[in-house]
Amino acid sequence: MSEKQADRRDAAELRDVFTGEPLDLRPGSDDCYKCSTCDTECPVAEVDDDFPGPKFQGPEQWRLKRKEDQDIDDSIMSCSNCMRCDSVCPSDVPLSGMHNTARGEYVEEEMSKFSREYIRNRILANYGRLAPLGAKFPRLANFVMGLSVTKTVYEKLLGIAGEREFPAFAEQTFTDWWEERGGNAASKKRAERNRGEEESDDKRVAYFHGDYSNFNTPEVAKSMVRVYEEFGYEVVVPEQRCSGTPMFANGMLDDAKRAAKFNIETFAALVEQGYDVICSCTSCSMALRQEYPELYSFDGTAKVAANTYEALEFLRINEDLDGALADASVPESEFGSLAYHAPCHARNQGLDGQAVELLSALDGTDPVDVGDSCSGISGTYGWKEEKYDTSMKIGEEMFEHMEDTEGETGMTECPTCAMQMNHGTGYDIRHPLEVLDAALVS
Ligand code: SF4
Ligand code: SF4
Repeated sequence: MSEKQADRRDAAELRDVFTGEPLDLRPGSDDCYKCSTCDTECPVAEVDDDFPGPKFQGPEQWRLKRKEDQDIDDSIMSCSNCMRCDSVCPSDVPLSGMHNTARGEYVEEEMSKFSREYIRNRILANYGRLAPLGAKFPRLANFVMGLSVTKTVYEKLLGIAGEREFPAFAEQTFTDWWEERGGNAASKKRAERNRGEEESDDKRVAYFHGDYSNFNTPEVAKSMVRVYEEFGYEVVVPEQRCSGTPMFANGMLDDAKRAAKFNIETFAALVEQGYDVICSCTSCSMALRQEYPELYSFDGTAKVAANTYEALEFLRINEDLDGALADASVPESEFGSLAYHAPCHARNQGLDGQAVELLSALDGTDPVDVGDSCSGISGTYGWKEEKYDTSMKIGEEMFEHMEDTEGETGMTECPTCAMQMNHGTGYDIRHPLEVLDAALVS
């Protein structure tokens, strides 16, 4: 966790923001001294001359609102919510909180609820509500979504970029696999066996898997479970909703609020019992740690934020991962040279260096960091017809660096960055947990 994020966690516990009232971010704009560091870091501003940048979206807009209570400018919908501006501000201006709040206000007050843009954004933001339908009949859904006529229909009708390949639904969801395997009770037994002891209150984690690992890439979630059990952790998988990241990014703050309330109630109860919360997606850990405390005021919000970790981060803090990997290896034919991209949300949490640092010593793989550029997809952003070209322009630097690596496999922690990496290069993309699983368990 970055120092800034640790400060924010502390602030979330101390600040009196849990009043149930919407946050007034206008005073935060006074901390901005117009250095423009945020503007130089913004990947959208770099390729889109019409986008006024984070300084305008954040402090300047809120200053104007204070003076004249102006409407939110529609350019807020061109911010991809990558949050890169947030992590570079030397004055700790709460840029992402300002952007999320401005987007919510814009959608609520300025956007027609019958417009194609609103309907499309609502569908994209609520993927987790629609995915169970596709997951019930995965072969049929994959066939239909792959047809060019389907792509034409969703491009013309909804404004979803026809160039994108719809992610395939897995034959079996992670949660079905989990239940078939014996659920929480079976995990407890496996963990105990691996620990060689009966009870341990310290080694219990609650897994926040998110929608994508459940419906599309259950192999990532399975790896998480196997790796944690190998280290003697009992894993529980409670019922959960989407973390809310795509909802924040689309200004659907009421949808996000409902999801956040459910997740906070569920995970706060487990934290009370001594569980730590583990996420395999860096945007999910970002939401639980930073966006929830910035936007919502439910009981347990700060507690969940203070006890949430990204999967590798938690193991690095609590276990001798380097030691475990020292004598391990993975098949070079499967992993080999791994072009690693650090998601922007991992960067924001100070986690961008850990995967390469950790896996460099492992036999059978040679992870290469492809640089600090943004992948460009930013969740649902690159799925929008009118944002597709911008998204691909932003991704160009990453694609080039990936293609400079020896192999044809990439690695990242974010499922939508993985989509963009595959879309831009054709590489197969893996999650670091899959590499750990192959090295230490499977
Ligand atoms: S980086 Fe911070 S202080 Fe500098 S212009 Fe942006 S918001 Fe203002
Ligand atoms: S969140 Fe990303 S896209 Fe939005 S203003 Fe900040 S740097 Fe630019």
